[in-house]
Amino acid sequence: MERPKLNRLTAEVVNQIAAGEVIERPASVVKELLDNAIDAKAGKITIRINGGGMKMIEISDDGIGIPKENLDDIFDAHTTSKLRSIEDLNTLMSMGFRGEALSTITSIAKVTVVSKFEEDQVGYEIGFSENGKSEIKKSPREKGTSVKVEDLFYNIPARRKYLKSEQTEYRKIYELLAKYFLVYPNIHFLLEKDGKKALDLPEVKDAKQGTVQLERVKDIFPDNTGLAIFYNGSGISMNGYVAHPSLHGPRVMKQYVFINGRPITERGIVRAVYEGYARYLPFGEKIPFVLNLTIRPDLVDVNVHPRKEEVRFENAFRIYSAVQEAVLHTLEKALSYNPKSSDGDVKENQSLGVSSNSQNSFAAMRERFASKGNVSGGNRSYSDSGSGDISFNNKASSVRDSLLFSKQAMEQTTGSFEFSNNEMVKESGIFTNIFQIFDKYIVIEFSDERLWIIDQHAAAERINFERISRNEKDKQNIQTLLVPQQLSFSQEEKLFLEEHKQFFDEIGFKYEITVSGIDLNTTPVEFTFDIEKMFKEMFELADNPAILKQNFEKLKHDILATIACHTSVRSGKKLDRSEMISIFNELVKCQNPYSCPHGRPAIWKLTLDLIDKNFERTY
Ligand code: ADP
Ligand code: MG
Repeated sequence: MERPKLNRLTAEVVNQIAAGEVIERPASVVKELLDNAIDAKAGKITIRINGGGMKMIEISDDGIGIPKENLDDIFDAHTTSKLRSIEDLNTLMSMGFRGEALSTITSIAKVTVVSKFEEDQVGYEIGFSENGKSEIKKSPREKGTSVKVEDLFYNIPARRKYLKSEQTEYRKIYELLAKYFLVYPNIHFLLEKDGKKALDLPEVKDAKQGTVQLERVKDIFPDNTGLAIFYNGSGISMNGYVAHPSLHGPRVMKQYVFINGRPITERGIVRAVYEGYARYLPFGEKIPFVLNLTIRPDLVDVNVHPRKEEVRFENAFRIYSAVQEAVLHTLEKALSYNPKSSDGDVKENQSLGVSSNSQNSFAAMRERFASKGNVSGGNRSYSDSGSGDISFNNKASSVRDSLLFSKQAMEQTTGSFEFSNNEMVKESGIFTNIFQIFDKYIVIEFSDERLWIIDQHAAAERINFERISRNEKDKQNIQTLLVPQQLSFSQEEKLFLEEHKQFFDEIGFKYEITVSGIDLNTTPVEFTFDIEKMFKEMFELADNPAILKQNFEKLKHDILATIACHTSVRSGKKLDRSEMISIFNELVKCQNPYSCPHGRPAIWKLTLDLIDKNFERTY
């Protein structure tokens, strides 16, 4: 056998290998050049793309420029003007710092740089191609820098083959640019595609870098359905927009997370956003959002990914809870209704500017909670600037109306979300009329000029949710199946069922683990639905091991809500009078009759007074 020989790789090959990690495709070149322009404090950036960026990418800025004496070295590996020692990483806010972008790009493409440093009299040009570095020569230009990258991967055919069509590569570039448009409202962006102007996005007046501005999120939130979000805590601040809950849909939507001006992929933050929405969104539904976090540099490591698309937090939990809290606060504030507000009635298309009044009531509520120990302390403050008037379309407005009601109901109680049974029963009083409309709502008229509208499915879910939860304690409502039901599950699903056997046992599902799944022996009573489907949905909930470990209580709640949903009367079902009365009676006995376990409202209370007012019958 031939003796293996060690070869020392040439600098060129080493660079090309490294380039594979940093430069995957044309969009990665655009990203590196944009980062450099931003670090150079550009106010205007022009991006020219030819042939999907495979033929040519040119990015010009009006930033500080590169001094002549540095030009000769910028193509060398590990030359940077941004970082001196490893300690600097703890305070660094710049986009680049490894000094490798330009050197790697020159190893896989032809590069020309023209730059004029602010203080230099003239501009200079330098190039790098297969023949090496060119002589520096004078080249007239205004303050700033242009970097032109041609024939990407010309010398690595294998990588070139890996690229997609021009259209696809251009789309990927555009998707990247769209992110920068969001967090750099202070920069004027010009985009040119194959010699034609594609976009001209002037800077937003008086907008600060790193703030998300309404002008630049219009595509993401139609009809102004974006709710401004703000947070300022120790070491973390946040701004951006989250969607009004009515904007939810089943498919993945535009979701952007930025940390210190960098677009990043961070599933934990996305999850935290959804946790903030928990009470406001049907399970599994998606919403769009744009979230920009500014985190003290020593609390976040940006040096964990070759393209800096991922970060590591010193204390991820702290970040996630801040996000969750900020989202929840925004939703509560925007969707809350202040019963003491001037006219009290709710008009369609009315603007949802949050009055200082309702601000106070929120603060008061918060305080009550804090004193009960439900909200952890800590120094944080919410700024309300920019949360100006946001008007909603009719659909949103009706969703809001019903949400408003629940909030109002909650605020009128003593500050706890639990309701005493007696109070509710007393309040429900004697009804004089009960009927169903549209096969989904129960309307109840009371003798004392009140009118309730109950969402039959939400109400049934609430009733079943509380009934099944009670099983945990008193096992009253469990039935034994005559013949055990055999259900098959995958290995992971079986592991989950084994891990949580006791919990399921307590809520009424007793089973034995078998080779292919489980033999189910008991279920909660009145349980006649597709059990297998229900389990599958539960596994989806538990899909995320982090949630599971962190917060089994929440998962339990979600599982119970899923079960409740499957057992409950659907909307669209005709009810007879006795069924309506039974739903009403059961609902008022619930601990929290006002919303279904997913957080949607269950009752809308109206009064004759309010109805009269709507008809301007004020005498
Ligand atoms: P890094 O950004 O990590 O410092 P790069 O290889 O991207 O490394 O750039 C090397 C150096 O070239 C930068 O540190 C900066 O001094 C200079 N430079 C590159 N692009 C620009 C630009 N558009 N404007 C001003 N200086 C630039
Ligand atoms: Mg750089």
